[in-house]
Formats: sequence, C-alpha cells, structure tokens
Amino acid sequence: MRVEVDRDRCEGNAVCVGIAPDLFELDDDDYAVVKADPVPAQEEAVAEQAINECPRAALIRHD
Ligand code: SF4
Repeated sequence: MRVEVDRDRCEGNAVCVGIAPDLFELDDDDYAVVKADPVPAQEEAVAEQAINECPRAALIRHD
C-alpha cells in the first residue's frame, strides 16, 4: 500500500507522526510527509490506524 497526504486538508497537528513516527514526519511548512513509499508490509496496520485517526481525514490510502 501507499499513503498520500492531501495538503489541502492537513493542518500539521502531527497526530499521524505520533501514531507512526517511522512512516510520517512534518516538513518545514508543517505538512505531513510520508517517509516510506510504499509502506512496508509490517507497518500497514499502524498506517491504517493513522489514516483512521487523522482528525482532518487528510491521509489517503492507495492499494
Ligand atoms: S494527522 Fe492528518 S492533519 Fe495531522 S499532520 Fe497527520 S495528515 Fe496532517
């Protein structure tokens, strides 16, 4: 799977970074960026959790 950040929705609150620090970080403009593309198989569950818990629904899953 891959994860895309919708920068029009992301507000930089770092919820995803807290859930999956190996997968997400904030860039200099405080937008989330995906560090692992594609997401390693063993990280898919935590990626799903981040997608589900992003308060802005800014994370988009691509299979
Ligand atoms: S949790 Fe959502 S809104 Fe917050 S930084 Fe991550 S992608 Fe952006």
